[in-house]
Amino acid sequence: MGRIIGILSGKGGVGKTTLSANLGTVLSHEYKKKVVLIDGNVTAPNLDLHFGLYDEFQYTLRDVLNGNVPIDQAINLCSRTGVKIVQSPLSKGKLNLKNLKSVLRKLEKTHDFVILDCAPALGEEVYQIMDMIDEAIIVTMPLIPEVASALKTINTLNEKKKVILGLVVNRAKNKKYELKIDEIKAVSKLPVLSVIQEDTKIPYSISQGMPIVIYDKNSKVSTQFRRLAANLIGQEFIEPNILERLASLFNLKKRTEPIFIQENTPQF
Ligand code: ADP
Ligand code: MG
Repeated sequence: MGRIIGILSGKGGVGKTTLSANLGTVLSHEYKKKVVLIDGNVTAPNLDLHFGLYDEFQYTLRDVLNGNVPIDQAINLCSRTGVKIVQSPLSKGKLNLKNLKSVLRKLEKTHDFVILDCAPALGEEVYQIMDMIDEAIIVTMPLIPEVASALKTINTLNEKKKVILGLVVNRAKNKKYELKIDEIKAVSKLPVLSVIQEDTKIPYSISQGMPIVIYDKNSKVSTQFRRLAANLIGQEFIEPNILERLASLFNLKKRTEPIFIQENTPQF
């Protein structure tokens, strides 16, 4: 049985989608796990953009939840990363998440990881998704409002008796005004799984339609994502050596178009 993990936060803009994309990519590309990423931010979906998927495919989560097509028809395989992605529709109209639970239960039978990139805050869709996940990772920034909002999310998950794996502290700048990691641990009563630095390479990699762990595998931030993924599956992480780190400094890859294959499409 696969693990159904929700990536949650209190506030938006803290890096949930970035974490979902990079975690999913490392687990799939580096550790050969079967990973499906679901854009659970149904009001403002954008997970697909992190993979250079700019078109809405024929079938999205809406078609699946409305019972029009089975889930495998809404799965897009990104051939560059090995990750499978289920898009949420950009078009207007509320999505009824009632049927999502049975979809997730089906996916966990055939995948090692089902990762849900969630919406920020505690709206109805997040409450619903919280009930459907097995485990949660909370993303925050080391700032007072972001941590305070994360605590609300943590409280709600605790009330629902959900397993919270811990916090990912993202966009850390090592500034005096930031909360210290020990303070975040103390106030949340949770482990900090990873601290990820603020790095302009991340928005740059998104502009190239690639998760940073593919775009620049041995950069400092990529190493932080890769170490986190290794810890999540209990694998020893081998740090990149000095030559690999050096190569990463000069390694600006040219953009190449990713190839997406819909699961139901015959492949020749
Ligand atoms: P969320 O899903 O929580 O709203 P995103 O993953 O969309 O957050 O990230 C919000 C913005 O922050 C994006 O433009 C992304 O490029 C940027 N970002 C995320 N993590 C980092 C980081 N570690 N360093 C620099 N920019 C980052
Ligand atoms: Mg997001």
